[in-house]
Amino acid sequence: MAKLKEFVACRNCRALVISSYKEKGEPCPVCGKVDYSEEWEGMVVILDTKSYVAQLMGVQKPWRYAVKVK
Ligand SMILES: [Zn+2]
Repeated sequence: MAKLKEFVACRNCRALVISSYKEKGEPCPVCGKVDYSEEWEGMVVILDTKSYVAQLMGVQKPWRYAVKVK
């Protein structure tokens, strides 16, 4: 797994992607928007979208997400 600072977070859905997505302007694999932040805290990996945590975060797709995005 890459280092944490190599990830950027989608401001729309909080999905974490590698920083090259931001550099190249590639759309978020979860929601399709291009709006990333380098300032985020905490990583949650959602494997089951029916889980309590996934529902708490409003996550629709298994992925890794930031807990907080600035
Ligand atoms: Zn997104």
